[in-house]
Amino acid sequence: MATALRCPRLFHFRYVEKIPEPEVMPEARIGKAVHTALEAALLGTPLAEATSKGRAKLTDELEQTRFDQLSTGIAPFVERIGQFRRRRRVGRQLVEYKLAVRDDMSATQFYAGDAYFRGIVDAAYLFDDDTLAVVDHKSGVRWVGSAMSDQMEGYAVLAISTWRNVRRLWLGLHWVAERAVEWTRPLEPGEVTERLVPNLLDNIEAAALAVSDGPRTNPGYWCDRCAYRTMCPASREQRFEPVYYDEDDDDL
Ligand code: SF4
Repeated sequence: MATALRCPRLFHFRYVEKIPEPEVMPEARIGKAVHTALEAALLGTPLAEATSKGRAKLTDELEQTRFDQLSTGIAPFVERIGQFRRRRRVGRQLVEYKLAVRDDMSATQFYAGDAYFRGIVDAAYLFDDDTLAVVDHKSGVRWVGSAMSDQMEGYAVLAISTWRNVRRLWLGLHWVAERAVEWTRPLEPGEVTERLVPNLLDNIEAAALAVSDGPRTNPGYWCDRCAYRTMCPASREQRFEPVYYDEDDDDL
């Protein structure tokens, strides 16, 4: 949805024409490597091994250095989760867990033909008292005090539709570089149904409208991080158009 709203051309490259990304951005590669290491560590792989598994995804020395800095946050996070699990009665831990709903918000299989909205949660903890915590790892720069994004609210909709017995849930953004987890206030199913589901449906409709006119380009500063920028004429104009000015013109 975010892609469709930001740039319909990018949406078409990625999801309609399904063109493999000609260029993978370094941040995306580093983010994937950090997610791999965190996933392995949460599933019980010894830390050194989990970190090596993530690092092996990178070949560039600078990216490896950045990964090494970020991965120092993995041990404290795993330790924190361990403490949290000892304090609370966790029924299930779900890592990289796939969720999907139909258009009537009933749960379905992730790859089912009737899946209308899907998401993969980085980590979720179902407690014995029917409460739930969902965590999303962020390897980029932390936006202090940022509101929980549409992405997290989408996870809340998926979670409440999937686990019907959940009475309360928390959403947490794990800022890997900052070693911080930013939690929402607790949400109850009624609020998710009454506020977040309509928001989600509005966002889906807005995204569908944005791409309904075809692959319109919407260049902006985000083109610098677009994996398809080498294929996109709008990006070339945005990034490389020469600027001429008249040195005798005092107004300049
Ligand atoms: S380079 Fe910019 S305009 Fe072109 S597809 Fe990517 S985001 Fe859209």
